[in-house]
Amino acid sequence: MTIQENVAVGSKTTMRIGGAARYYAEILTKEDAEEALRFAAEKNLPLFVLGGGSNTVFADGTINVLVVRIKADAVTIHKNRVTVQAGKNLPMLINELAKERLDLSPLTGILGTVGGAIFGNAGQGPTGIWIDHYVESVTALVNGKWKTFSQTDCGFRYRESFFKDQKNPVIIWETTLQLPSRPEAEIKGEIEKLLKRRIETQPHVKTAGSCFKTVGDTPAWKLIDAAGLRGFRVGDVQIAEKHANFLLNIGKATYANAKAVVDAVQKKIPEKLEVEMRFVESNGRTYF
Ligand SMILES: Cc1cc2nc3c(=O)[nH]c(=O)nc-3n(C[C@H](O)[C@H](O)[C@H](O)COP(=O)(O)OP(=O)(O)OC[C@H]3O[C@@H](n4cnc5c(N)ncnc54)[C@H](O)[C@@H]3O)c2cc1C
Repeated sequence: MTIQENVAVGSKTTMRIGGAARYYAEILTKEDAEEALRFAAEKNLPLFVLGGGSNTVFADGTINVLVVRIKADAVTIHKNRVTVQAGKNLPMLINELAKERLDLSPLTGILGTVGGAIFGNAGQGPTGIWIDHYVESVTALVNGKWKTFSQTDCGFRYRESFFKDQKNPVIIWETTLQLPSRPEAEIKGEIEKLLKRRIETQPHVKTAGSCFKTVGDTPAWKLIDAAGLRGFRVGDVQIAEKHANFLLNIGKATYANAKAVVDAVQKKIPEKLEVEMRFVESNGRTYF
């Protein structure tokens, strides 16, 4: 594994916000993951695992952090059990599984990697289907040790997991999913339907998806809309007209712009709006 210095990471996120990581490495093996952890500990730096960057914004300038990207993306299928490594692109996985008559279509439209989806228990809204619905186990490096977690041990909740709860760095390595069988044409039809609905209702360019979590039964976009903040803008970060829970980079947005929009929303709305996106500060720690 090569650890590179001063590598642009903002450009690796879907929102294209942020500067360069002091150190950056791509991880192909479990030994690479262990080495990265050791390196970060020796340098006394936080380690941040970047998946597809579809839920992340980085600080501008140099970020004092080791960013690692899991490049391992093997998929092994045995009947209805699918073991998939964390670096696998989720939309590609959904399409490939459809050809095997295995149905993961409810997660259609969620960008990024399988690792990112496990970390944040990605899925439909609070009452919909999340990835935890399919998880049998997850293997991860936690507190310096490899462990395979059962579904229950993963502590999945709406957009939360045991892995997200940890203070120390966690590297999710692979997961085993149990998937229902369904005819390929039906799954493909479902994927098309869900993608069409997304395109009609959500922006998909230079955004990181929903910024805030749903509060109780009320979607965050409703509260943002009711507060008159649809279209609100600071610098080049704007709350999308098309969907009031999506932030857009409409030009040369900065990290400060994104934080200022979040601050403005949180100040104006009395309900506590929790942030779903990951904001990585220049000291390498996550902000919210
Ligand atoms: C257009 C659009 C639509 C979206 N719609 C949805 C939706 O409907 N539902 C939904 O849940 N999300 C949605 N999202 C948000 C995003 O796609 C998901 O949160 C996704 O699961 C993030 O995956 P990622 O690999 O891009 O994660 P990243 O943004 O790279 O990382 C997110 C977090 O996961 C951690 N992480 C990533 N990989 C690992 C790993 N291997 N080990 C440990 N930690 C890891 C990172 O450290 C970070 O804290 C949407 C985003 C976009 C842009």
